[in-house]
Amino acid sequence: MKYQVDDNGYYGAYGGAFIPEMLYPNVERLRKEYRNIIEDDGFRKEFQELLKEYVGRPTPLYFAKRLSEKYNTKIYLKREDLCHTGAHKINNTIGQILLAKRLGKKRIIAETGAGQHGVATATVCALMGIDCFVYMGEVDMERQAPNVARMKMLGAEVIPASSGSKTLKDATNEAIRDWINNPEDTHYIIGSVVGPHPYPDMVTQFQKVISEEMQQQLKEKEGIEDPNYIIACVGGGSNAAGAFYQYLENEAVTLVAVEAAGKGIDSGESAATSVLGSPGVIHGSKTLLMQTEDGQITEPYSISAGLDYPGVGPLHAHLRDSNRAKFLSATDAEAMEAGLQLCKLEGIIPAIETSHALAALDQMSFQHEDIIVINLSGRGDKDLDTYIHYFNL
Ligand SMILES: *Cc1c(COP(=O)(O)O)cnc(C)c1O
Repeated sequence: MKYQVDDNGYYGAYGGAFIPEMLYPNVERLRKEYRNIIEDDGFRKEFQELLKEYVGRPTPLYFAKRLSEKYNTKIYLKREDLCHTGAHKINNTIGQILLAKRLGKKRIIAETGAGQHGVATATVCALMGIDCFVYMGEVDMERQAPNVARMKMLGAEVIPASSGSKTLKDATNEAIRDWINNPEDTHYIIGSVVGPHPYPDMVTQFQKVISEEMQQQLKEKEGIEDPNYIIACVGGGSNAAGAFYQYLENEAVTLVAVEAAGKGIDSGESAATSVLGSPGVIHGSKTLLMQTEDGQITEPYSISAGLDYPGVGPLHAHLRDSNRAKFLSATDAEAMEAGLQLCKLEGIIPAIETSHALAALDQMSFQHEDIIVINLSGRGDKDLDTYIHYFNL
C-alpha cells in the first residue's frame, strides 16, 4: 500500500488539496463520493463497455520484432496510440463524464494546453450530449489551431485565456474561476494525475486499465504477468500512472519515467521536473514543480506540447523520492530521432511525447531475455508539422 493515496490524499509527502475556500464544497463532495461511484457495479459495467465499444479497448500489446533486434532484447509496445482520438487521454475523460452524470452535473469545463485533453473532453461531452467549455491560453490557441477546430466541430466552446503568459496556467486559473462561480451544475475534468485530491487518484483509477490489460496480455504471450521494465513518458504523469499502477507494489518490475529535457537539463529550456523541481504547490496539490527561489512557477519548455508542464503529479514526486521509479530524461533531439527510428523499424508514427519514452532505450542496457514494455501513449498525426520542420521532410 506504500504507493496508494492515503486517507488525506497524500502519497508520502506529496498531494493534498490546497484550494481556495470557495472550491471546498465541490472538491469535498468529489472526495466523499468518487470511490463509491467508480467502484459501483453499474458504473464499472458502463465504463468497461464504452472502453470496449467506443475507445477500442483492449489496445494490443504488440511485440516489436525489429526494434527488439536492434536492442537485442524483447520489447513490447502497449498501443494506446490506437485509442479513439489517438491517445490514452480518452480513458480518463470517459470515466469522468460518467462520474459527472452520476453527480447530476449538466455542464463540463476543462483546461487544455496543447489541446489534446480539450479534444478528449469535447469528444465525451458530444457522446453524452453535455455542454462543454474548454479554457485555452490565447497563445496556445494560435499554436494549436487544428485542435481548436476539432473541439469546435465536436460542439465545445473554446474560451481564450488572455491573462499572463496566455498559456496553460492561465487557462487553468480561468477554469478554476468558472468552477467557483458555477459550483452546483458544473464538473471540472482535469486531464492528468494532477490537481487537488481526489483528482490524482481518480484519474489513476481511470487509467489503470492500461496495466490491467498488460498483465493479462503478458500472461498470454509470455506466460508471466511481470515484465522486467515498464517505460513511459511523463508530463503530468497519467499514462505512466496507468502503465505502472498494477506493478507499483511489485518491486521486481523496474518502472522507468521519462521526462522532457527540452534543449538540455541545464539549458534553461527544459521540462525535467524531477531534476529541476522542488516541493511546492501547483494546481491545488503539493508536489515537485519548477520554480524560482521566491516560488514563482517557471515556464517549462519541450518540443512536445504534452510534456511542457512545470510539475509532475504527486504520485510521481513520491515515486522519485522513494526511488521506486527510475527517472530519466530525453532532449528534443533524442526524442525526435527515437520517434523517427520507430517509424522506420515498425511502421508506427508515435506522438512526440511518446518518442521521449522510446529515447530511454538508448540510455539503458538490457539482457537478451529481458521483457520491456513501452507505453505508446499516442500517435503522431497531431505532430506531423513538428516532424516536417524538424527533419526538413
Ligand atoms: C498528453 C499526453 C502525454 C502527457 O500526459 P501524461 O498525463 O503525462 O500522460 C503523453 N503522451 C501523449 C500522446 C499525450 O497526448
